[in-house]
Amino acid sequence: MNDQLAIHGGPKTKTTPFGTGRRFGFEEIKELAEALEQNTLFYHHGGKVKKFLEDFNSLYGVRYSVAASSGTAAIHVALGAAGVTIGDEVITSPITDQGTVVGILYQNAVPIFADLDPHTYNLDPVSVEARITDRTKAIVVVHLAGNPCDMDAIMEIAGRYNLKVIEDCAQSYLARYKGRLAGTIGDYGCFSTNDFKHISTGDGGIVTVNSGREEDFLVAHAFADKNYMRFGTDVVRHISTLAPNYRMTELQGAVGIAQLKKLPWICERRTAYGDRITAGLQGLPGIHPHRVEAGNTGTYWFYMLRVDEKELGCTRAEFSEALKAEGIPNTPGYIPDPVYMQPLFQQLSAYPGSRFPFDLNGTTYERGLCPNAELILQTAVRLSVNEFHTPQDIDDAVAAIRKVAIHYRKECLGMS
Ligand SMILES: *Cc1c(COP(=O)(O)O)cnc(C)c1O
Repeated sequence: MNDQLAIHGGPKTKTTPFGTGRRFGFEEIKELAEALEQNTLFYHHGGKVKKFLEDFNSLYGVRYSVAASSGTAAIHVALGAAGVTIGDEVITSPITDQGTVVGILYQNAVPIFADLDPHTYNLDPVSVEARITDRTKAIVVVHLAGNPCDMDAIMEIAGRYNLKVIEDCAQSYLARYKGRLAGTIGDYGCFSTNDFKHISTGDGGIVTVNSGREEDFLVAHAFADKNYMRFGTDVVRHISTLAPNYRMTELQGAVGIAQLKKLPWICERRTAYGDRITAGLQGLPGIHPHRVEAGNTGTYWFYMLRVDEKELGCTRAEFSEALKAEGIPNTPGYIPDPVYMQPLFQQLSAYPGSRFPFDLNGTTYERGLCPNAELILQTAVRLSVNEFHTPQDIDDAVAAIRKVAIHYRKECLGMS
C-alpha cells in the first residue's frame, strides 16, 4: 500500500462520494396540506402543534412540553419558567451555541462559565460547584454534539444548592445518560428544530416540563405566549410579569410530526457511525477520540476528536489540511474561542451603552477562565456525522485519519 499522504501527492483515501439523502418528502407535504386545510395556522386552534407535542411527549415519556419558535426561545422559556430574574447567576458551558446564553441575558441574569471535561467537552461538575455563589439560580447544561453530560453529579449539586437545572438538548436528540433520555433529567429539557439539527421544522423549539406538574406546565406555556393563559374558557390577559411571544405555527408543527417519525432512525444511524469512528481510532497515537462515557448513548450531531500536536509532531492545521486532502472534509475546532471571549462578554456590552447586567455583580470574563475549554478549541478537529452516510464513508474517514496520524507520528519519531 502506498502510504504517501495525498497532500504530498500520494493517493487519496476517499475516492467515492459521501452518501446523501432527502430530509423531507411526501410525509411532510401531507401534514402541511392538512395544516392549511384547517383554515387556521394558530397553534392553539389547530391540531398540528398539539399532535407534534403529543408525539414528542410519548417518544420522551414526559407528560408536558411546550412548543417555541426556536431552540434559543425554548431555553429562554425554561429560564423564565424557572423564575430566573435580574442579577441571578446562571452557570453554563463556554463551548456552545450563542442560543444558550441569549435567554440568560434577556432575563437580565449573568452567565457564569464553568470549565469542561477535556474529552467529553461537557461541564465538569467540580468546576460547576466551584462557581456557585449566593446569586446562583440555575445551571444550563449543554449535552454537546449529542453526548450526555454527567447528570448524576449535576443533579446532586443542584439538589444541595437548590438550583434549577435546564438541559440544552439542541444537539442531543435521543441521547441517553445511563439509559435515561437527555432532556428528561433536569427540571426542563430544551430542543431546537432549526434547519441544522437532527430534525428540522425550518425553525422551532420544544421545552419539556419534567416536574410533570400542571402548574409548572402552565407557567412555561404562558411564558412562550406573552404570559397569556389560554387554558380556561376565556383567554386570561391579566399580565403581571414580562414574557415574549415565542409561538410555534401550525406549519412548523405539521413538518415536526413527520420529522419526529424519522428521528429514531436518524439517531440510530448517527450513534452507530460515531461509535464506529471511535472504535476505528482505538490505540492510535496522538488522537483523542470523542469520548462518550460508558453506559451513555451519544447521537453525534458531529464528531470532534482532538489532536495531540506534540505526539504527532504536526500542528492541528496541518493535520486538518492533510485529512481534507485525503477526501475527508473537516473543520479545525468548533467555535473559534469560548463564548466568554466574544466582544459581548469582553466589553460587557449586552445592551449598547451599558454594562448591565454584568455590573450588578461585577462579573468580568478573562482568557484563562476555562483552560480546558480553551485547549479543546485549539486542538479539536470536527468531522460531520450524517444519517445518510454509508458504513463505507465512515470506514474511509477512519482509514484517512489513521493514515495521516501514523504518517506524522512516524515522521516525528524519525522513522520516515
Ligand atoms: C442550535 C443550538 C441552540 C439554538 O437553537 P436555535 O433553534 O438556533 O435558536 C442552542 N444551543 C445549542 C447547543 C445549539 O446547538
